[in-house]
Amino acid sequence: MTATASKIIWLAFALTWFVLRLRPERHARKTPVKYSARDAREIILLGISLTGLGIVPCVYLAAHIPRFADYPVVPVMSYLGIAVCFGYLWLFYRTHRDLGRNWSVSLDLRERHTLVTTGVYALVRHPMYTGFWLMAVAQVLLLPNWVAGPAGLIGFGTLFFGRVRREEEMMIAGFGDEYRAYMRRTSRVLPWIY
Ligand code: SAH
Repeated sequence: MTATASKIIWLAFALTWFVLRLRPERHARKTPVKYSARDAREIILLGISLTGLGIVPCVYLAAHIPRFADYPVVPVMSYLGIAVCFGYLWLFYRTHRDLGRNWSVSLDLRERHTLVTTGVYALVRHPMYTGFWLMAVAQVLLLPNWVAGPAGLIGFGTLFFGRVRREEEMMIAGFGDEYRAYMRRTSRVLPWIY
């Protein structure tokens, strides 16, 4: 496994994820929003996450910046990275299928929003964020660079910890005791752990 091969694999999975998102984004544009908690803070958090998971690795791939932070590729890390990529693609596919038209890139409640508690949502209440954590881990494993690799963990981690409590508050405001009960029987992103 060469560094170039590892980078191309990262890119191929990232592009597959991007294509997988096109349909839900099209549906989201057509589904009216009833209540939105999108504010300046949300836009900044989304920007930070996009920078870490997208912009920093793309600059690294396209311009090889920052070169000083390179380290030699570790083949076992790359192979593990491929397995993690399959895991995140599967999770994004499943979560989009389960959430359907309730999905938003930010914090919205839509017209006729339903609370989804089945499928992967029976295991954890933020499985799509589990998918993003896996995506960030795959970035560390596939990009042999001390900056471009961990950038996704920092970027998405900032969004996750800055958002998750607010999202749960919004869901409680929308679904009340139904969501509180759902919170009691599920963990956030890792079954039985967190
Ligand atoms: N946090 C979830 C969803 C991410 S998408 C996950 O990680 O899987 C964000 C949108 O999903 C939010 O605007 C919220 O309205 C919606 N949402 C979150 N949990 C939901 C659920 N259990 N059922 C229906 N919609 C949900």
